[in-house]
Amino acid sequence: MSNIDWSKTQFETRAIHDGQEPEEQTGAVIVPIYQTSTYAQTGVGEHKGFEYARTDNPTRTALQTSIASLEGGEWGLAYGSGMAAIQNILYMLVPGDHVLMSDDAYGGTFRLIDKIFARYGIEYSMVDLSDLDQVREGLRDDTKMVITESPTNPYLKIVDIAGVSNLMRERYGEPTGEALAWEAGTRDFQLTRPVLLVDNTFASPYLQTPLAHGADLVVHSATKYLGGHSDVVLGLVIGNDPSIQRFMKFHQNAAGAVPGPFDCWLVLRGLKTLGIRMREHSANAMRIAEWLKQDPAVKEVYYPGLPDHHNHEVAARQMRAFSGMVSFSVHGGWESASRVVAATKVFTLAESLGGVESLIEHPGQMTHLSTAGSKAEVGDDLIRLSVGIEHIDDLIADLEQALEVASPAGAVAD
Ligand SMILES: *Cc1c(COP(=O)(O)O)cnc(C)c1O
Repeated sequence: MSNIDWSKTQFETRAIHDGQEPEEQTGAVIVPIYQTSTYAQTGVGEHKGFEYARTDNPTRTALQTSIASLEGGEWGLAYGSGMAAIQNILYMLVPGDHVLMSDDAYGGTFRLIDKIFARYGIEYSMVDLSDLDQVREGLRDDTKMVITESPTNPYLKIVDIAGVSNLMRERYGEPTGEALAWEAGTRDFQLTRPVLLVDNTFASPYLQTPLAHGADLVVHSATKYLGGHSDVVLGLVIGNDPSIQRFMKFHQNAAGAVPGPFDCWLVLRGLKTLGIRMREHSANAMRIAEWLKQDPAVKEVYYPGLPDHHNHEVAARQMRAFSGMVSFSVHGGWESASRVVAATKVFTLAESLGGVESLIEHPGQMTHLSTAGSKAEVGDDLIRLSVGIEHIDDLIADLEQALEVASPAGAVAD
């Protein structure tokens, strides 16, 4: 049984088996929840690879092995939240380093850099990373990290990951050697070249594997599609570079933002159905995006699966399908949008995304309230859907009745 090389198997098979073989002592088919803080030693320093649960826990190890396999990376690390994972990555930066990020970055990522890391001398600037000309102009001599998401939130812009990686290679040369110079045990660490970090939360590894397109690091809020059932908060980082792994593993233990074993178990359980869920999310979202386009109350639909999406070609090249997030604007401004989001019955009015149940929200007043007045401000007539895996007919019927309360085209000045 354990002789099989899972790396040769398909995604759906790896999601169920890799890192999760039956437990040896009892034969338990599912990785147990190792709810322990410490491990018995037979002599000083003689143990089975586990000493203390901040450092390592077998349930967490299984999850880290599984996500590395699914993203096609050499290693994975798990954290107490997506933000804790991003924070651990940012620890690689030192004063004077520059970060280039997206002008519609996830609000929590922006807040962490702008309100905390900038205090320690980390510089940043923001451009529209879906436009490669802006990426080229935004890269600086002191740039050490490019942080991107694709699709982005809430306008579902698509960033050409291979395109950004190629621009970085053109500017800084082909990567050679390890990315982080650090002698373990000392304080002297420094990135030797800029790294490309992709937040893959909106796509999931079933739809897109950024490492294969030239990214150095992938981060996930597993709270979303990977967990998939809106019942856990957890973060994951995946990469190939061994120097980054050593440093991040050191920091994971030193700072201790680790997830509990039950949370790891919930995400492992979610991963087993990731492929089948992402296919359903994507199919339902595609139908809804097409349906919304013909509704007279709708002004514009944002979905990378639509042929008229301005980076549809890139999305089709780097993604297997287009995921479950759909945004659209309605006629009649925020009053109209507010009425629609309060009128759905199957779609629940709530923040977050990626669960099996459909959610609806008003970014301007909810997830993106903090962008008001900034460059990243979102339209107040915008509505964001996290399309779940309920039956498509029920979802469309629900949106149809909700959109009846929106102002029809022309009834209210936009
Ligand atoms: C939710 C989210 C995060 C933050 O993850 P948490 O698990 O909530 O800490 C980061 N990036 C994206 C794109 C997200 O949607």
